[in-house]
Amino acid sequence: MKLDVDVLRYLSREDFRVLTAVEMGMRNHEIVPSVLIDRIASLKHGGTYKVLKNLLKHKLLHHDASKYDGFRLTYLGYDFLAIKTMVNRGVFTAVGRQIGVGKESDIFEVSREDGTIMAMKLHRLGRTSFRAVKSKRDYLRHRNNYNWLYLSRLAALKEYAFMKALEEHGFPVPNAVDCNRHCVVMSLVQGYPLVQVKELQNPEVVFETILGLIVRLAEHGLIHCDFNEFNIMIDDDEKVTMIDFPQMVSVSHRNAEMYFDRDVECIYKFFGKRFKMTFEEHDDNVDVSEVDTDESSRPSFSSVNKTAGFLDKELAASGFTRKEQDEIERFIEGDIEDDAGGEGEGTEDNGHESELNQTTIKDLDSLKLEQEKTTSSHNEEDRIEESQQTSNVSQSRESENEEESEDVNDAQLVKSLTKQRRRAIAAASRGRKNYASRNSYKDKGGKSSHNSKIQKQLNSW
Ligand code: ADP
Ligand code: MG
Repeated sequence: MKLDVDVLRYLSREDFRVLTAVEMGMRNHEIVPSVLIDRIASLKHGGTYKVLKNLLKHKLLHHDASKYDGFRLTYLGYDFLAIKTMVNRGVFTAVGRQIGVGKESDIFEVSREDGTIMAMKLHRLGRTSFRAVKSKRDYLRHRNNYNWLYLSRLAALKEYAFMKALEEHGFPVPNAVDCNRHCVVMSLVQGYPLVQVKELQNPEVVFETILGLIVRLAEHGLIHCDFNEFNIMIDDDEKVTMIDFPQMVSVSHRNAEMYFDRDVECIYKFFGKRFKMTFEEHDDNVDVSEVDTDESSRPSFSSVNKTAGFLDKELAASGFTRKEQDEIERFIEGDIEDDAGGEGEGTEDNGHESELNQTTIKDLDSLKLEQEKTTSSHNEEDRIEESQQTSNVSQSRESENEEESEDVNDAQLVKSLTKQRRRAIAAASRGRKNYASRNSYKDKGGKSSHNSKIQKQLNSW
């Protein structure tokens, strides 16, 4: 679905305030009750409902009245929140055309005031291969939709953290600029994905470089797990840049050797097919379809001098914790295992997009946005986001426990939501000052401090 991001220019502070209120409510509600949104947003009497209507019109929210009157963010609404934050931080001032549609992402050009063009990747964990969707559905059977937002955010954070750490260790990756929610901003790679390249001046050099990267990654304790012609960019000078890191795993992973071999195999297969002759010359005429690796000079997992955990500190420095690594790994694992057939990114099933990814921004014409915020409000927002992460992690833990008990059914959900709604209504009738959602903010200190944090975040728009 196409939607004009120009809308962003006309959204008021109040629009963003309500959008943020819905986002906050989604920490523990699949559908956020309208009364709760109104309580969190604290707009003047009746104000919230008018704003909700406007946000709905622009498809930033989805309305659901099946169990009670409520709303949830669409991906587009989430996009707008992330884009607005980036603009407020001064990361970029304009969003341009879409330059890539990945397996689980949309990539756009963005530009700074001075005209520098960068790439913005919006993660969409709902868009996956057909087989992966099945395993993810199984995994998420007892989870609510709002976890798609959470998982997309984790994927972005992981990508950002890995990109930064890899760059610091001299790997040819884009420069990681910033990360917010499900959005990563990075330098624009001048080049094309290898899959689009029909001819190379020095295929054997490129081939060696790429294999060398797989080995060097393993020496640093990592395996890319999706190292193929879609995720290797190559420029006019045949310089290689690797991209796409949310699925990377440690060499200590139980399936590390299989993933390592698969990455190597992908490269052999691709170069064998596309640049066959050159490849054969280079590799002493080894038949590329030969499965027995002992006779070739293929890198083998066991012969690499690995330093597991080497990058851990750097990853933690980017805010990506061990817990979050485990969480995202568990989710993505179904995907990388399912993709073992080697069909890679060509296996998209867009039929699921409409369900999980209601809106996509496409063909955006240059959009100018004002930088509105000061550095201090940025810091405040970061703090809020940190606490939001903590809340989401503990929330996921709760969800996992729910998975163990097979009987979390709709009736229970309805019951608990009705209870929450009643509480919200009761709080509303007692007056605004008394309100605090017991479930959302219980782990994070006193009510007043939460309320003031929320107010600060809301005021910062
Ligand atoms: P996904 O995880 O969805 O596969 P990728 O990170 O692989 O997403 O990006 C999808 C496509 O977008 C890439 O194949 C590439 O064409 C383009 N792309 C991604 N990052 C950049 C970048 N930094 N510079 C230029 N193009 C990019
Ligand atoms: Mg990719």
